[in-house]
Amino acid sequence: MGNPKAFITIKRKDGGYRPVKERTGDFGEVEQTLDEQDRREQASRCMDCGVAFCHWGCPVGSKIPEWQDAVYKGNWGEAYEILTSTNFMPEITGRICPAPCEKSCVLAIHKEAVTIRENECSVVEKAFDGGIVNPKPPKKRTGKKVAVIGSGPSGLSAADLLNKAGHTVTVFEQDDAIGGLLRYGIPDFKLNKGVIDRRLTLMEAEGVLFKTNCTVGKDISEKTLLTEFDAVLLAVGAMKARDLEVKGRELKGVHFAMEFLKQQNKVIRGDEFSETERLLARDKHVLVIGGGDTGSDCVGTSIRQKAFSITQIEILPQPPVERTDNNPWPYWPNTIRTSSSHEEGCARKWSLVTKQLIGDAEGNVTAAEVVSVEWVKDANGRMQMKEVEGSLEVIKADLVLLSMGFVSPLHDGLLDALELEYDQRGNVKASENNQTSLAKVFVAGDATRGASLVVHAIKSGRDAAVGVHRFLKELA
Ligand SMILES: Cc1cc2nc3c(=O)[nH]c(=O)nc-3n(C[C@H](O)[C@H](O)[C@H](O)COP(=O)(O)OP(=O)(O)OC[C@H]3O[C@@H](n4cnc5c(N)ncnc54)[C@H](O)[C@@H]3O)c2cc1C
Ligand code: SF4
Repeated sequence: MGNPKAFITIKRKDGGYRPVKERTGDFGEVEQTLDEQDRREQASRCMDCGVAFCHWGCPVGSKIPEWQDAVYKGNWGEAYEILTSTNFMPEITGRICPAPCEKSCVLAIHKEAVTIRENECSVVEKAFDGGIVNPKPPKKRTGKKVAVIGSGPSGLSAADLLNKAGHTVTVFEQDDAIGGLLRYGIPDFKLNKGVIDRRLTLMEAEGVLFKTNCTVGKDISEKTLLTEFDAVLLAVGAMKARDLEVKGRELKGVHFAMEFLKQQNKVIRGDEFSETERLLARDKHVLVIGGGDTGSDCVGTSIRQKAFSITQIEILPQPPVERTDNNPWPYWPNTIRTSSSHEEGCARKWSLVTKQLIGDAEGNVTAAEVVSVEWVKDANGRMQMKEVEGSLEVIKADLVLLSMGFVSPLHDGLLDALELEYDQRGNVKASENNQTSLAKVFVAGDATRGASLVVHAIKSGRDAAVGVHRFLKELA
């Protein structure tokens, strides 16, 4: 720890976002970064606490105080090595992780946590700029073959570790490009896709094999994979979106958030869509149903597409601004989150349930009928929803985007064909070492945890890789 008093003398300084007017005119990343001097000063604020709660708060167990010290001293290469010892793509988490580490940083008690996430991103960018990130293929191959199905962060994280352990890894992806939700869910204004490509180039140079446009269970059978590979890892995500079961759901202009976001990601890449296929918010009244991150991404995308108005509604009550007494530090704060997209302009409404969608004579959606709800505890202390009489409200909407979360992985096709066991929520059931009910088949990420975060997917991929590796060693 280089500067023991910096946390007293130096204030937290964020890179901040580009000005709203500028950033809403394009799909470039919204976040800015600090210069080297400021960044090193920010890293010097880390107190190197005896018990590093940030390390506990980070799902991949990042050795945060150690690499803050390296950043403070300007040892970018050392910082990169420490960082990547627990997370193989910190350039992604450094951009889009909600940073539970910062919420549990001891300095967060006084609201001035170390800028851990931004520091993380800077370390990787410095390392790439300085030419110190080079392919490190394994010295020896084990002769064992592993199939990873799904190329989101969990699949990639597992593929990286298994390849480095010397196994020959093939990643199968049903889409036309690698990355899972990093590629086709998260908007470019949060994560520029060149960042993913840069990492994939390294993985290819290290020997990971990628097969796109290949749906396992359709283009290649699960039986073939089980015969040709020594182990199979399912990293298929939780792609079953929660639907809105109300009258009017079938109207034109009502879409799942992912249809809208994925198409925009593809348009930015240069794909073209016909007028009838194109989902555009331009000049429309957009209603986003669901108050979470996916909904927020729909807001930011609609703003950039020049929507006339955007309203985001949520069934739960508005969270508090400050932590409540039963939600103390260092736990994740259940407080209101305002994203860069929210700041760009949208109406946010809470405690509203959608009763029906209304359409015109041509079958186009024109509005949504919603009512207010109260959340009250029942006799068992569970929160129950109660509609407020006389609270019916009509919200104008000619584009409705459903972003009410994801239920589970898709069972139809591959998972049912493998006859795997599911847990109560419909996720793939796994043992502690990520093994499924089939000995040779492992699972990672949202497919077993349920829809979550990139950092959890990365950790789950690492854990699954360890499980697969042990299994293969027993086979050897
Ligand atoms: C819009 C949106 C925004 C988000 N924003 C954030 C954020 O800002 N920060 C954050 O931390 N998290 C965010 N998340 C959550 C995060 O993206 C996911 O938790 C994470 O991507 C899950 O990783 P995964 O590897 O388990 O699955 P996924 O990323 O879902 O990848 C699964 C892959 O498997 C492929 N696949 C499925 N079945 C088959 C098959 N049979 N054959 C071949 N391939 C198959 C799919 O095509 C897909 O590419 C967001 C999620 C969404 C939807
Ligand atoms: S991965 Fe997320 S939680 Fe872990 S150090 Fe990075 S920003 Fe913090």
